[in-house]
Amino acid sequence: MRHIEGTEYPHGGELRIRRADEWSAHRDREFPTAVVTGAAGFIGSHLVDHLLLARHRVVGIDSFEPWYNPARKASNLEAACAHSSFRMEVKDLRSADLNALLRGASTVYHLAAQPGVQHSWGVGLAKTMEMNVSVTGAVLDAAAQVGVDRVVLASSSSVYGDSARTGGPNVVAPISPYGVSKVACEHLADAYRQRGLDVVTLRYFTVFGPRQRPDMAMHKMFEATRRRGRPFTRRGSGEQSREFTFVGDVAAATVMAGSVPEARGHTFDIGGGATVSLNEVIAEVSRIAGSPVQVRTVPMPAGEPWTTAAVVDEAGKVLGWRPRTTLRGALRAQWDWHQTVRGPLTLGSLLSGASSSAGSLVRSRDLPSRNHATAAEAIKRNAHPQWSATEPILSNA
Ligand code: NAD
Repeated sequence: MRHIEGTEYPHGGELRIRRADEWSAHRDREFPTAVVTGAAGFIGSHLVDHLLLARHRVVGIDSFEPWYNPARKASNLEAACAHSSFRMEVKDLRSADLNALLRGASTVYHLAAQPGVQHSWGVGLAKTMEMNVSVTGAVLDAAAQVGVDRVVLASSSSVYGDSARTGGPNVVAPISPYGVSKVACEHLADAYRQRGLDVVTLRYFTVFGPRQRPDMAMHKMFEATRRRGRPFTRRGSGEQSREFTFVGDVAAATVMAGSVPEARGHTFDIGGGATVSLNEVIAEVSRIAGSPVQVRTVPMPAGEPWTTAAVVDEAGKVLGWRPRTTLRGALRAQWDWHQTVRGPLTLGSLLSGASSSAGSLVRSRDLPSRNHATAAEAIKRNAHPQWSATEPILSNA
């Protein structure tokens, strides 16, 4: 069997892609079709790259929600679009024929969602519930109907609320509508397990790295520092802490959750291995950027836990996964990405191939080029009318 070589992030922020012959679940058999919802998003696009490198056929589904720059999302898929085993479906899961989309898939990785704790209050509440709860129910239902082998569900540390503050153990006690929506998704998974559907649930802990969503703290911190003189808005004293998890480690765990037979029905915490305060991150980013992060302090808003802490033993035991990337290596990888992805992105520049692939961790030249035009055209054909092919839609920060 041909080996897929691992690839590495610069500066020791290691991304280790398992060689194909290490995937015991797939040894000596055809590599199956994986469906990834939310494929153009931050984590989904890394997952697509990992699955392609592990020799899966991949169907990506994404509606390119204009919540943040859809052109940025299209650029996330640049390498994947050059791969002959990748097909992109630009569809909204709220209205698509899900049975048709999922038929023939062995594994469905359901990552599409309306993320963001703060966005889930007030006007964002209804959309959070619709995108997360209703859509997840519909995906699980279709997966059960068409006989998908396994669904891997992206949940969140937000289900734990502030329960780690006392030193644990974590209990499910959400403190934001977003957290509540993810608990509801997990309960839906339980209901469909009762109907015989195999669902593996992953509770991701604050994910960071290249392509990070522009609403997230590290993205804002790097962008503020890159454009010297702009302050980063710190919510609270900065002594609150998070278990930050590198996106390459998250993608690896997610592929394993879809592949390892013993994972059937399990729920895993996927965390970076250490809890770090926001102020420690600010200090590290200042060192990496070579200039101090300017901080503007605002009160800590509701819904944000004081601390989060994952228990990754179960993922280690069952999946054979552990986080491998150091905070410093991972922050350097993200800094490099911010340095190379400059200027406004437009769909027009992306679809004409004029964009730089510098931001892609898996670069087009690593992958056989065949269907780029097809996938890019699919994105263009189905572009939301609100997107302009020549103008940036939203600012990137
Ligand atoms: P993201 O916003 O970058 O990606 C989500 C993608 O889903 C987007 O590209 C969006 O266009 C797509 N999408 C949303 N609704 C859709 C619909 N109805 N139909 C089709 N596509 C749709 O977010 P992310 O940070 O990559 O998060 C991915 C998943 O991981 C989400 O389920 C999120 O809740 C979960 N999660 C993320 C983090 C984190 O730190 N980023 C932490 C915990 C859990």
